[in-house]
Amino acid sequence: MADVFADLVGQDEAVAILRRAAASAAALLHASTVPAARAGGPAADAAPPAGAAPDPTAGPAAAGAGAGPGAGMTHAWIFTGPPGSGRSVAARAFAAALQCVHGTGCGGCPGCHTTMTGTHADVRLVVPEGLSIGVGEMRALVLRAASTPSGGRWQVVIISDADRLTEAAGNALLKAIEEPPPRTVFLLCAPSTHPDDVSVTIRSRCRIVALRQPPAAAVAEVLVRRDGIAPDVAEWAAAAAQGHVGRARRLARDPEARQRRDAVLAVPRRLTGVGAAFDAASALIEAAEAEAAASVAELDEGERAALQTALGAGGTGRGAAAAMRGAAGQLKDLEKRQKSRATRAQRDALDRALVDLAGFYRDALASALRAPVAPVHTDTAALAEAGAQKWAAEGALRRLEAVLECRAAIEANVKPRIAVEAMMLALWKG
Ligand SMILES: [Zn+2]
Repeated sequence: MADVFADLVGQDEAVAILRRAAASAAALLHASTVPAARAGGPAADAAPPAGAAPDPTAGPAAAGAGAGPGAGMTHAWIFTGPPGSGRSVAARAFAAALQCVHGTGCGGCPGCHTTMTGTHADVRLVVPEGLSIGVGEMRALVLRAASTPSGGRWQVVIISDADRLTEAAGNALLKAIEEPPPRTVFLLCAPSTHPDDVSVTIRSRCRIVALRQPPAAAVAEVLVRRDGIAPDVAEWAAAAAQGHVGRARRLARDPEARQRRDAVLAVPRRLTGVGAAFDAASALIEAAEAEAAASVAELDEGERAALQTALGAGGTGRGAAAAMRGAAGQLKDLEKRQKSRATRAQRDALDRALVDLAGFYRDALASALRAPVAPVHTDTAALAEAGAQKWAAEGALRRLEAVLECRAAIEANVKPRIAVEAMMLALWKG
């Protein structure tokens, strides 16, 4: 059985930190359950009892100071890194290591196994379905996180997109992190520690684990080893996905994902005039909408059916009218949540397309500069080279910037169609 950190590709430094922390956490538990260890076990010497709240004035620095065996552990962590670098993979692996009965993340014990498969009673994962995580969800979570761990180790809360917390939800979380329940560990994942992603006050209470964009060779290696993908396909997909492990696997396995990518990479040669630029914008937006609709349709239908069953559709008699009114409210709530999730899925799909497109212009720029780097998209490398000859480095750079500006504009809530149309015009005019 593979170690829980095995899928964390190209992140040796982060893995070393997390292993040390897991060992410290195990030492803390050991110290609190075996008082006699105080005399004999070196692990118990410097470790405070696990029930003691960390000194709130000490800050995260104290946790990493390396003063004693318990010092590698702290109760709040932020995992940062570019999309696809494995932020949530790292958080889950660390959660497993904390629940591991051997304290190291062996991958084989019940603690590791149930955490990795998402069934551990003391590990809660928050994945926002809409554009943000609301305060209601966060309060409920914080409340449950304060309970005693049923497995006798740690209550672990993983927040997979901490940058999507609403301000009120962030405040609810901050309160919990400031006064942490004794056996609770918060693992936050965010693209960066920029104040736009994580508030300064939350950040100041957390220890930060920075993940890097894994090199293509490391991504290809894991696709071959773990997913049984042929080496040549794995190599192509790893380069095309630009270090995004999940995206690389999808490209290697899903013909539809490859088709969508082909359509995006056909954009540069289709831009022959103003009309064509607007057509290309429409096509890109509609493709993202279709991809998003397909990804959430099944989920939506299942939720609707489950809610209708729970509400006992078709009931009669006393209370039925009141129940109907309540049911209408719940259905409306569900529809609202589903709409928010659909918007998020559309944005994610569009963003993937923009990252692919940026890769093409980055290849053109590298070619114009004769930079000794491998192309992102090996299959359109010849086209990128032709573009480089036509545009020169300046023209390729302007186009790359147009794509990146479009991503930034959508992130800043500009209507996607408007941002994409402006980008297509800029790509055409150069
Ligand atoms: Zn284990």
